Amino acid sequence: MAYDDSNIFARILRGEIPCNRIAEDDYALAFHDIAPQAPVHALVIPKAAYIDLDDFSANASDAEIAGFWRMAGQVGRMLGVAQAGGGNGYRLISNAGPDAHQEVPHFHIHILGGHPVGRMLADAR
Ligand code: AMP
Repeated sequence: MAYDDSNIFARILRGEIPCNRIAEDDYALAFHDIAPQAPVHALVIPKAAYIDLDDFSANASDAEIAGFWRMAGQVGRMLGVAQAGGGNGYRLISNAGPDAHQEVPHFHIHILGGHPVGRMLADAR
């Protein structure tokens, strides 16, 4: 499957539409989800074009992978949900493909917290 560079996160990365930015470096961008499902709902995306975790883990450089995950941890601390910073924890989610309801085909993780986020897969059938 080819990467579709018309997806909304590609457009954010090109500066065509705004985002509520949390952090940015050479490898990754973090911003607030436009439709938050918890008091803290951040998204972290790599700067380069990867469809999902499968694509990212197979094809990204070690520097891109390290940069991405370092930013993910940093965002949890910045938003006050990391336990090391006195927060109460958070959940990471990454949807990949139709069974997971991935809406935006640019690899991303959700960071959800700020209140108890319930058990995993509460709505799964
Ligand atoms: P997923 O289902 O994992 O692909 O999630 C995509 C997420 O992107 C959803 O939680 C949306 O609310 C979020 N989203 C869509 N458009 C934007 C946008 N322009 N800025 C921030 N978040 C967005």
